[in-house]
Amino acid sequence: MDSAAMGRDLEKVLLSDDQIQDRLAELATEIAEAYEGKDVLLVGVLKGAIMVMADLMRHLPFSAPVDWMAVSSYGSGTKSSGVVRILKDLDADISGRHVLIVEDIVDSGLTLSWIRANLESRQPASVEICTLLRKPEAAKVQIDCRWVGFDIPNEFVVGYGLDYAEQYRGLRDIGTLAPHVYS
Ligand code: 5GP
Repeated sequence: MDSAAMGRDLEKVLLSDDQIQDRLAELATEIAEAYEGKDVLLVGVLKGAIMVMADLMRHLPFSAPVDWMAVSSYGSGTKSSGVVRILKDLDADISGRHVLIVEDIVDSGLTLSWIRANLESRQPASVEICTLLRKPEAAKVQIDCRWVGFDIPNEFVVGYGLDYAEQYRGLRDIGTLAPHVYS
């Protein structure tokens, strides 16, 4: 879905499809250098990371297996609950493997720090994080994200896999919603 199709629901575009693709291509180059000569398992966090995973994989100059986790963090609102529960665990055994977590957004950081600790307890060879978006002003815990696409302001964003009440994931760009959508 293009931004124009959002009509009055879209307040502004923060990042265009082109900007996102250009940045993912840069990240893919850096990731390829870092994992040269190593096998890496890409781990996506459902559902928000579907787009970034699909595009990052296509930018990577090598083939890598993919696995998915689903956790509960937000309900249909816009605030982090801080409570994390595994809804779908990995299919793969990650012990002794290099794991790259591919995320859409780090907001408070609570979800990702929990996921990272959980994966690290399974004795992988390494765990790194690549997130497309990060909100530095919203951080409640510090997480070492090796690859960050964009630091963005502390606003609720949708598009490119990110939803509001399960809507807008298919928007090609990333933007903010008009206030009337929330009321
Ligand atoms: P955190 O635990 O870092 O606060 O947030 C974790 C999850 O909350 C993200 O993976 C994402 O699913 C959701 N989230 C955080 N900020 C936003 C946002 O601005 N927009 C949307 N749509 N989801 C967000």
